[in-house]
Amino acid sequence: MSDLALDPQETPCAGGPPEGPVHDALPGREVALGPHTVVRRLLPHRSRRMVGAWCFADHFGPDDVFGGPGMQVPPHPHTGLQTATWLLDGEVGHADSVGSVQPIRPGQLNLMTAGRGISHAEVSSRGASPVLHGPQLWIALPAQEAHGPPRFEHHAALPALSAVGWSATVVVGELMGARSPAGTHTPIVGAEVAVRGTGALELRPEWEHALLLIDGSAQVEGRALEPRSLAYLGAGRREVRLTAPAGARLFLLGGEPFPDELVMWWNFVGRSHEEIAEARADWMAGVAQPDPGSRFGVVTAYDGPPLPAPALPGVRLKARTRRGDPA
Ligand code: MN
Repeated sequence: MSDLALDPQETPCAGGPPEGPVHDALPGREVALGPHTVVRRLLPHRSRRMVGAWCFADHFGPDDVFGGPGMQVPPHPHTGLQTATWLLDGEVGHADSVGSVQPIRPGQLNLMTAGRGISHAEVSSRGASPVLHGPQLWIALPAQEAHGPPRFEHHAALPALSAVGWSATVVVGELMGARSPAGTHTPIVGAEVAVRGTGALELRPEWEHALLLIDGSAQVEGRALEPRSLAYLGAGRREVRLTAPAGARLFLLGGEPFPDELVMWWNFVGRSHEEIAEARADWMAGVAQPDPGSRFGVVTAYDGPPLPAPALPGVRLKARTRRGDPA
């Protein structure tokens, strides 16, 4: 999916040690992706840029967030990241510049690795409900993979775990010894967790974690998860106790704290302003003159023009901590 905000801001993200066990409720902010479309942006947050390698999280729906025709996102580029598409409701068709054409339904993962550059389109499947519900998630690639070849994976079968009080699907990375087959490049976890009653998830204390409440209501270590927020839990936890007497669904994000300073702008992740500016110029050259052999290629399975990039802001970046803005 795409960051369709009309005036994307260049966002620096920097590495550094996570805090110990905390529970910071980070309220999502509403971002307009078009005249009728509002999503909740949970990452990057002003006071928390990343959780492990997770560098971007939007929560769509569960409404008809696109106002009738469903999702209609023309071809747009990515660099330096993986997009993880996971739906709770709806159906979206994916087509990309490496030739993939793949509808995705709830319970399945589309994982697209941009590397040096890829472009893709996403449209609600014809005849399917325009209702869309799910997180839109990006994973930053480590330096040695950030300029690698683009590729795409679809996973319809993912490992399931369960214990007293909960069950989980390991979407990305590893949880309690269960490993997703999806190809990732840093120690990471992304998992959907259904809670009913009380139970505990075992976590890796060297990783940082966060929980997103998808539906229902739940408590973490006795404290309620706030709706429309990301609960940042820090590092240093060997387990986390979850309670949801009436049932709840959560999404767990976690991983090893990401060491590199990053720059995010629009749909690009890079390591300098210059890298971002070059990616934008390369994309716009391909918009002007489509070339299957160019950096971002052509999405041949999409009938329509690609999405032009917004103007780059004139302001250059300053280094900031990974925790967030300077005081
Ligand atoms: Mn996208």
